[in-house]
Amino acid sequence: MPLHNDQHIKIYNTLSGKKEDFKPINNGHIGMYVCGPTVYSHVHLGNVRTFMSFDIVFRYLKHLGYKVRYVRNITDAGHLENDADVGEDKISKKARLEELEPMEVVQRYTVDFHNVLNTFNFLPPSIEPTATGHIIEQIELIETIIKNGFAYQVNGSVYFDVHKFNETKDYGILSKRKLEDLIHNTRELDGQSDKKNPQDFALWKKAEPQHIMKWPSPWGDGFPGWHLECTAMSTKYLGDQFDIHGGGMDLKFPHHECEIAQNEASKGKAPVNYWMHANMLQLNGQRMSKSTGNTVNPAELLSGNNNFFSKAYAPSVIRFFIAQSSYRSVLDLTDAGLLASEKGFYRLMDAVSKLEKLPSGSTSTIDVQVWKQSCYDAMNDDFNSPILIAHLFEAVKYIHQIKEGQETLTDKDLNVFKTTIKAFVFDVLGLETITKTEGGNDKLSGAVELLIKLRQEARANKDFALSDQIRDELAAMGIVLKDSREGTTFSLN
Ligand code: AMP
Ligand code: ZN
Repeated sequence: MPLHNDQHIKIYNTLSGKKEDFKPINNGHIGMYVCGPTVYSHVHLGNVRTFMSFDIVFRYLKHLGYKVRYVRNITDAGHLENDADVGEDKISKKARLEELEPMEVVQRYTVDFHNVLNTFNFLPPSIEPTATGHIIEQIELIETIIKNGFAYQVNGSVYFDVHKFNETKDYGILSKRKLEDLIHNTRELDGQSDKKNPQDFALWKKAEPQHIMKWPSPWGDGFPGWHLECTAMSTKYLGDQFDIHGGGMDLKFPHHECEIAQNEASKGKAPVNYWMHANMLQLNGQRMSKSTGNTVNPAELLSGNNNFFSKAYAPSVIRFFIAQSSYRSVLDLTDAGLLASEKGFYRLMDAVSKLEKLPSGSTSTIDVQVWKQSCYDAMNDDFNSPILIAHLFEAVKYIHQIKEGQETLTDKDLNVFKTTIKAFVFDVLGLETITKTEGGNDKLSGAVELLIKLRQEARANKDFALSDQIRDELAAMGIVLKDSREGTTFSLN
């Protein structure tokens, strides 16, 4: 019997603002769509957090035995700099600034994205469609929305008529906004005069002659609006109505609100049963964001080559750090937090490495079934990975106690215990044992940190000859020290 039959998942649904019992549309099958990256620059750790939250959801659902079709798109056209349909396409702009073909920009950052995901041990989605690969589907959708009376054409662009839609449906149902408030709060922006109302959003934008990314359409050469691609691709692969749609909190409005409107206007139904939104990762108490530059790239965090952190961290330590907080809470990326997670991670992995050598006994003094179900209960409760980790640390305590002979498990119970720990640590959380090379790097970090400390002592004693010698000899080995007000960090050249 597949496991999912006896596990009851609850999901916090943004649409209702409540935790709801999860019931898939087709028994045993789950359709899940997650908005993917806009590939115009490196992904930052904030993006990684959101994708990792859904990687853990995907992993858990698969672990339960569901057949999951997980679609995560690549936005390679149509995402403008500004949500109000003004500004340049982000990819076109990057291509113009760097004198590249837009598809070179897309290729570069898609490859980069995949490398990052591999580094962090993500499972690949079942389908990874691109916006530019679905222009025909998007044009067909626009034609249907126009035919149904919810969109209008002006000067080669097509806009969704939010006011018309709101006469019979609810624009704002997801983000809990009221159209009247939106009207009240909208400032007219330059270049928006084509729209009947500022709240309307673009389904198709006319391309100016100098615009590089454009496609022919019934309305002339242009490109699709950003919100449209997700409606086209999610429904193409998952059906007009599917189970789970995810993304970062910042996508709730307008992006996901517009997806609902587009689906209602074209298919006459709400697209998604459970809307899930991952909360933001912060750096120094401020949201991590490409546009403000308050970011740290995975490569910078993994190499230790950045201005924020005292050392390099292994990918599994970062994964563990992210899993230690609920996907619905704001998470602040700090050195202290990473250091604490690193300690916890090694404690857990050290215990896991002892599992195979644990002796069995003639009786069980621990109720393994109760402990095992508590792990499932944690994940069943809206994928509560921090609570799951707390139960794994209970298991760490048991492992030491069994090793010391203070507790015992029968052969059968010991097997259940081992299988459950490994399933949650490796399959569900996606953690990896740190390999020897990475362990070696960690030893190297320890040795360099010791030298940094000795150099600080030399400087405090005004022994500048020694402090310079430490710096210069390390530099000659390709280990560069960097002094700042926060202290000294190092990078490998
Ligand atoms: P983008 O490439 O900007 O479209 O973002 C890709 C995904 O990362 C989206 O789901 C965003 O909501 C999410 N995201 C962006 N910034 C952050 C952040 N600071 N923390 C968590 N997720 C984020
Ligand atoms: Zn999307």
